[in-house]
Amino acid sequence: MFKSIYLSEEYLHDHKLRAEAKRVYELTAKNVERIKDIALRVIKYPDFREAFEYVDGLFPRVNVKEIPIYKVAAKDLMRMGYGHAEGFYDSISKIIVVCGVRPSHRPVNRRFHIQAKIETDDVIVHELCHYCYYFEGRRSISSEMREEFAYGWSVGYLRQKGLTDEEIVKHNFLPYMIGLSYEEARKNVMVKNGVSTYEYNNHTKFQRKEFRRTFAGKMFDRAKEIGMERGLCLVECYSKKLQEGTGLIDEQDDTDRFDILDL
Ligand SMILES: [Zn+2]
Repeated sequence: MFKSIYLSEEYLHDHKLRAEAKRVYELTAKNVERIKDIALRVIKYPDFREAFEYVDGLFPRVNVKEIPIYKVAAKDLMRMGYGHAEGFYDSISKIIVVCGVRPSHRPVNRRFHIQAKIETDDVIVHELCHYCYYFEGRRSISSEMREEFAYGWSVGYLRQKGLTDEEIVKHNFLPYMIGLSYEEARKNVMVKNGVSTYEYNNHTKFQRKEFRRTFAGKMFDRAKEIGMERGLCLVECYSKKLQEGTGLIDEQDDTDRFDILDL
């Protein structure tokens, strides 16, 4: 899934909200087949020629040029529970979906808004990489590893478009990386402010909420820092793979690299 979400403070902090989002996601995943009927249009090669050709060059066995991509209206995706997704690949129905034009919305809280610059062709490359991942027989249960693969192999494409490594992370990877880095950021801020894990764990619900409210800004900034670091690390790791020029990778190497990324 390619996330371009505006990360609301509530969403990041509230476990219940995240659990609910997951439940809705699982429920609505069943509706994925309906997508064929409600799609605005089907994107097929040679539309988005560069995107398809880039992934085809990495994973020649997959024949990505044959894969149809369903473009679905933002409001329909929202209704199906994919509110924050720019696109996704459903490994069961093997369907790739990209989001149509999203009505611009004012962020509720600018402080916690990430201005991503994600374009449809970026999303197509990302989701095609997910497709290839499964095609090559990879089945990691870790969503981090699956995402790492898709974000990582997109690096060459984004560079081809003229983005610097910093821009790739800042405009493309950061919304996802921040989500990954939030827990660590929270711990960092706790330590910095003299709150031990023991203490925090023994906080009442109210105290915890207070802590998060007080340090929300600091946690967000720290998560952004960690997210940037992680993103740049990811870019560097995949640069080496891209030089080798093929998307076929060996599992052990991948596992090692994941440890590095898990800063
Ligand atoms: Zn993804």
